[in-house]
Amino acid sequence: MSASPESQHRILRVAVPSPLRRLFDYRLPDSFETPQPGTRIRVPFGSRELTGIVVDVSVSSDVSSDKIKDVLDVLDEEALLPPHLLSLWLWAAQYYQHPIGEALHTILPAGLRNKGVATIKRRKSDLRDGQDQPDQPLSLNTMQQQAVNAIVAEPQRFNCFLLDGVTGSGKTEVYLQAIQQTLDRGRQVLVLVPEISLTPQTVSRFRQRFKVPIAIMHSGLTPRQRLNAWLESAQGSARITIGTRSAIFTPLADPGLIVIDEEHDNSLKQQDGFRYSARDLGVMRARRESIPIVLGSATPSLESLLNARSGRYRHLRLTERAGSATMPHYMLIDTQRQPPAPDGLTQELLSCLQDHLRRGNQALIFINRRGFAPVLQCQDCGWTAECRDCDARLTLHRHPPHLRCHHCDRREPVHSHCPGCQGKALTTTGVGTERCEVALQQHFPDIPVLRVDRDATRRKDDLDKLLAKVATGEPCILVGTQMLAKGHHFPNVTLVGILDADSGLFSADFRGPEFMAQLLTQVSGRAGRAEQPGQVMIQTRHSSHQHLRTLVTEGYHALAGALLEERQLSDMPPFSYMAVLRAEAINASAPARFLNDARQMIEQMHQSPSGAAGRLKIQLNGPLPAPMERKANRFRQQLTLRSHSRQHLQSVLTHLCNELEQHPGQRRVRWSIDVDPQDMI
Ligand code: ADP
Ligand code: ZN
Ligand code: ZN
Repeated sequence: MSASPESQHRILRVAVPSPLRRLFDYRLPDSFETPQPGTRIRVPFGSRELTGIVVDVSVSSDVSSDKIKDVLDVLDEEALLPPHLLSLWLWAAQYYQHPIGEALHTILPAGLRNKGVATIKRRKSDLRDGQDQPDQPLSLNTMQQQAVNAIVAEPQRFNCFLLDGVTGSGKTEVYLQAIQQTLDRGRQVLVLVPEISLTPQTVSRFRQRFKVPIAIMHSGLTPRQRLNAWLESAQGSARITIGTRSAIFTPLADPGLIVIDEEHDNSLKQQDGFRYSARDLGVMRARRESIPIVLGSATPSLESLLNARSGRYRHLRLTERAGSATMPHYMLIDTQRQPPAPDGLTQELLSCLQDHLRRGNQALIFINRRGFAPVLQCQDCGWTAECRDCDARLTLHRHPPHLRCHHCDRREPVHSHCPGCQGKALTTTGVGTERCEVALQQHFPDIPVLRVDRDATRRKDDLDKLLAKVATGEPCILVGTQMLAKGHHFPNVTLVGILDADSGLFSADFRGPEFMAQLLTQVSGRAGRAEQPGQVMIQTRHSSHQHLRTLVTEGYHALAGALLEERQLSDMPPFSYMAVLRAEAINASAPARFLNDARQMIEQMHQSPSGAAGRLKIQLNGPLPAPMERKANRFRQQLTLRSHSRQHLQSVLTHLCNELEQHPGQRRVRWSIDVDPQDMI
């Protein structure tokens, strides 16, 4: 019996949200028209009913016809994803070794992951035009003008620009004017910013500049708001889409430009599940859409700097601050020679603070640690408060009083006496933001001290309220964590004090020195951004450390150059490609056993001449305990893979994944693969 030509095209290959790294075949009943790839359908899956995405339409299936199940429903009239994006996201799922159905599930806004209908339901305020008093474009300085000209010169060609501009150099103005020209040509713009900088200030800056509808996407939206923003972008009613990492997946009807601000920022890499880099996918996407992309930063990642050096990216530099501002002046305070008080502050920093505040300025003190003190210890027997579930100490918090693990969030009441010896001699060591806040308030009783960290900004508008106080321009001291480092413009801050620069110098992560340099430069960049010159004081026990010296005397780019040389010598990214296979379990030995098996699989691939690994080399390191071996009551191990060939690494990972999925040991651990890992801890 021969099938009619029409009925031949009735097998759908479908991405279904399941941990299996494959597509599933379904038969399309005659009552449905053949859907385009990128359309959602309902399918039976085991005992459940799930929403999948059509990836391909086929005439035949390898599954025998009595086993193949029928599609239950077709949810969309048109494909939700245009073909070029569907194929890019399929590629991305493969590249990051993530199950395809789960990856596509991540990509869709929550409102479409189930049966939700892809239509815009709007509440009044969701999509607003620009306000009445538009803000005027600034007249650009020469470097800014050259940058804008370069970005808009070839609007219909892929080009990746690294906009490498010192803090306060006016990168935002460059984005805004390149965006304006893109809008004028009838195209849409996608802007990615770190979560923390997607403040109402940023949004209002865009709304004031552009008289076009803007879609905002961040984690605080309801599913409905997010879906609206997604659809408005996809249908072209929103002309600018601003969002955090996951906004990179938003389809645009008329794409014209992608801007990724703070391209070095870790928040662009998803750290669990589908571990994609929004920056790298952004570059891939711009290439497929034949449009320019701008990666902006004052502290570009070593990856991007190398790409700029090699000519893959075009390097646009803004080496001076915009307007009349100048770069801040750096000073190291050697805390071996000049020990700080128990509150972490040296005399020198205090008297400098005094000076700046007396002149009516504001100051910022940076500590990368929340809470009151990181150590609670018994002076008699040496007992310290440790987390029951992690290889970590508990941090003492005072508001309200409790002990907390910053790794698993476990909370405990504060002990009244030592659980080891029943003594009363419990003392704290080290300084967190809370303690520094208390100390500064005692030193400067008449000056407001504003703490900015995750604890102090829990509620939605806490941060805005704090920033509004700073914006009054009255003297104040800001104390906070890296939340203060990103993107803020505090014109009256003239002094930045860094309480302890040392943790980054000796990190277990090979990117530790790079992160340290970025963080210190970004924090320091908050000083002296307007007329008054800024000063940066860095307290350190290692004032002669070469990295630190290079950073303060020659600046970020000099240190980045030195770090690139080190990476090249040690054959680390970006001079090689890396992936980490991680495993964790409650059982202490299961992760290492699993990873040892994985290591053997890879070694066997290398031995068989026809095998995936061929004769090319893969450097294996491990299995080794993760820098923090036990976290949230799970033991964690990792196996690192490195290669000079990205393709080769890819094919090894793909084979490895297939084998591991069949491996009996995989049920005893939680395992994951992280391609181009950012965080090794
Ligand atoms: P960046 O993002 O590079 O750190 P911003 O874009 O925040 O810097 O700009 C820093 C400050 O300089 C802002 O107050 C901005 O308004 C101002 N600025 C930017 N470009 C110019 C210009 N061409 N002339 C005068 N001021 C400018
Ligand atoms: Zn004790
Ligand atoms: Zn813990």
